[in-house]
Amino acid sequence: MPTDAVIVWLRRDLRLADNPALFHAAATGAPVLPVYIHAPEEEGDWTTGAAGRWWLHHSLGALAGALQECGSGLILRSGESLEALLALARGSGARAVYWNRALEPALGVRDSRVRHALQGEGIEVREYPADRLFAPDAVRTRAGAPFRVFTPFWKAALTSGPDLEPLPAPPILPPLPGNPATLPLEALALRPATAWDSGLRAAWRPGEAGARTCLGETLAEVAPAYARLRDRPDRNGTSRLSPHLHFGEVSPRQVAAGLEALRAEAPAAAPGAQALLRQLGWREFALHLLHHFPETGDSPLDRRYDRFPWRETGPALDAWQRGRTGFPLVDAGMRELWTSGWMHNRVRMVAASLLTKNLRIHWLEGARWFWDTLVDADLANNTLGWQWTAGCGADAAPFFRVINPVRQSERFDPEGAYIRHWVPELAALPNRWLHAPWTAPGAVLREHGVVIGRDYPAPIVDLRASREEALAAWRATVQNA
Ligand code: FAD
Repeated sequence: MPTDAVIVWLRRDLRLADNPALFHAAATGAPVLPVYIHAPEEEGDWTTGAAGRWWLHHSLGALAGALQECGSGLILRSGESLEALLALARGSGARAVYWNRALEPALGVRDSRVRHALQGEGIEVREYPADRLFAPDAVRTRAGAPFRVFTPFWKAALTSGPDLEPLPAPPILPPLPGNPATLPLEALALRPATAWDSGLRAAWRPGEAGARTCLGETLAEVAPAYARLRDRPDRNGTSRLSPHLHFGEVSPRQVAAGLEALRAEAPAAAPGAQALLRQLGWREFALHLLHHFPETGDSPLDRRYDRFPWRETGPALDAWQRGRTGFPLVDAGMRELWTSGWMHNRVRMVAASLLTKNLRIHWLEGARWFWDTLVDADLANNTLGWQWTAGCGADAAPFFRVINPVRQSERFDPEGAYIRHWVPELAALPNRWLHAPWTAPGAVLREHGVVIGRDYPAPIVDLRASREEALAAWRATVQNA
């Protein structure tokens, strides 16, 4: 029996506020059926990794609770999305499905297939832009091409004037009498079978309420000092909004609107707010690139790098993954990642550079490890970050600029607080030797109870020699290609 109920298909927009699909469904005044369909096989080659699944489990739980407070509930289904939507429409009599547009190419293809099939069944489909500030085709060069360099992209984007007015959460969501069946959350098997998640639990609060708190703290504490502290892994200098943004628990529009308000109210905070907004611009740029160059999730944007002689993986990759490279800043970052599911941006760059340039291991090996271990693992941002560091992407750091992990450590963790926290076996060493402990005189190491090779590894690679080898390989294959 047809009803006027509207199905809202929730995906990476796990929030009630500034959720266009939910807002417009509620505005019809008809019963609303919010559904999440677990369909990992539709995510293409990059199905959500282990840390992301952990986040998703908790985010869905939080969303179900928030929906209940509005008089509604979250319907969970699994299997093929189209089948699940058709079954829900048949069971409930709903004749309309609303959703917010997907950001990733594989999901976009899936969505267009689902849209056609639903419309073929006489079901109305409405899709809304959300979770990016600019539509994928809205920002173009004068010649009408996609941008490949960030600064002109961002300038053009800002000139086009984004709409920064977030939509309110619907105050009430009328349910359908006789609620449709839902799977229990545990049936999606998102949580790890073994208890490795204590570090994640200690560090994060997934869900819209957690995202709201994080945004509030960002605006009050982080944004004002962001321009000064954003490169310091030893300070709480960045927002940590990335997993909340990835899962759509907060929208970029809400973040940008908050930053704009801060700029207007507190002129002293304006440089920080502007710098943070620009960082959101990198997220937009990453989405722009993935939209226009969908193959870059797996292939370099600069195809000359197809010939680059990457090394076989082996013990070096394992040492890098486990935080046992002998370079304290890199090891601190890799251990932070393993324990908390997140790593500071500066350290991501340093760790990625060591892997791709000094160890010459393929950037995809690093991208895959990040994919499984980051709670914010995001195809657009991860691809951009890895290709940028490896030198093969858009606006990439030139290959010959090989990041020195020791110099970076001295500069961005000057008192060594970050290293001491994550690499406690070096905690007793004086600052002077902390960043490159293998260079410390034997007497200093003995005095502080550190034996290199026993308590902490010797460097797995010679920085200078490996840099020269990488540059020679680059000249032979990429530069002269
Ligand atoms: P903030 O500095 O507070 O920035 C606010 C938001 O802006 C971030 O949450 C993020 O959405 C966006 N942002 C900031 N920096 C970047 C950037 N360089 N590129 C794109 N967006 C950015 N970010 C991810 O969200 N997911 C990833 O999988 C990811 N992988 C990366 C891999 C490598 C090798 C590198 C170098 C960077 C990667 N980044 C990734 C980008 C960046 O490191 C993180 O977005 C940032 O560290 C998240 O912390 P934050 O929320 O405190 O950032």
